[in-house]
Amino acid sequence: LRLTMVIEDENPYLLLTPGPLSTTPTVKRVMMRDWCTWDDDYNVDVVQVIRKQLVELAGGTTDTHTAVLMQGSGTFSVESVIGSVIPEDGKLLVLANGAYGQRLAKIAQRLKITLVIEDSGDLAPPDPVKLARTLADDPAITHVALVHGETTTGMLNPLEAIAPVVKAARRVLIVDAMCTFGGVPLDVAQLGIDFVISSANKCIQGVPGFGFIVAERTALEATAGWARSLSLDLYDQWQAMESGNGGKWRYTSPTHTVRAFAQALKELEEEGGIAGRHARYTESQRVLSEGMAELGFPGLLPQEVQSPIITAFPFPDDPDFKFKHLYEELKARGFVIYPGKVTDRDTFRIGTIGNVNADDIRRLLAAIKEARS
Ligand SMILES: *Cc1c(COP(=O)(O)O)cnc(C)c1O
Repeated sequence: LRLTMVIEDENPYLLLTPGPLSTTPTVKRVMMRDWCTWDDDYNVDVVQVIRKQLVELAGGTTDTHTAVLMQGSGTFSVESVIGSVIPEDGKLLVLANGAYGQRLAKIAQRLKITLVIEDSGDLAPPDPVKLARTLADDPAITHVALVHGETTTGMLNPLEAIAPVVKAARRVLIVDAMCTFGGVPLDVAQLGIDFVISSANKCIQGVPGFGFIVAERTALEATAGWARSLSLDLYDQWQAMESGNGGKWRYTSPTHTVRAFAQALKELEEEGGIAGRHARYTESQRVLSEGMAELGFPGLLPQEVQSPIITAFPFPDDPDFKFKHLYEELKARGFVIYPGKVTDRDTFRIGTIGNVNADDIRRLLAAIKEARS
């Protein structure tokens, strides 16, 4: 048996997905060296710098906030938070409107955390008035969790309206901002979000391998000894990262991914930070939704709640339409799109995050036109 390996610098297609996504050649290139996890040139000069930058991106300062990096895909970081910051006698309220909100609930169920779910359905955002009533009626609820950008539909949930309700009721707020952090403005500190979660391979445009949590220091400090898992113990991971010169992971650190992430953060800054990136994504999404509507694919959501991250399109009323066929035709032309996930509608999705711009989307639209003719 002979193993052959093809090393390709150029990707054969653009990933128009919610991550992992198309990264820049420069992000890929910095992974070409190995790092020692005992050295300050990794722990201090790479990991600690990343942690500080994440706090700043969240609108916090290192006096009030702290960042913890966690091995695994984004879900591991979500599970780390749900499993580590709710005490044994706590009760979690999950506001769900899609598969990722449901996943928050599923994690809590698996961990036998007392749980209530308020599901507004895939097409409706959570209602802050109803939330205020639920919190007033059920004093046992200690924590509230929701998704910022629901990747199922592409909906941007109204955190600016939800967070003040949770804070006024003095509950702990957990936000899965997996697919929005770094690409959609979100003032975590000002909104009083206690724990916000995202991962390396979404809007920061790094490669997969770890997630991160930006936490309010006092909220995290209160959680010592609460974790239901060893490897996903958020508090212990934080303590390790704070000890000595800082930046130490408890178990093997995904060094190449972390180094790529540092480069991705540099490129985010060069693009004009979150505002600059948000402007690019917004322009790409606008070109996409207008062009798709012209091709007979109106988006699933009204534009007011549509995020610039990913857009869902219902299958057209055409009996000959086959998603698999469109997918293959587009892939052959250099674009990978994404299947749908909405519960009671057939949809497909197109992402506008990653190293992708409005001209790429115009080329995609031309390819769709060609594939459909
Ligand atoms: C991508 C994503 C996740 C995490 O998914 P993984 O496959 O575990 O990386 C969680 N929540 C949302 C909203 C996401 O978009």
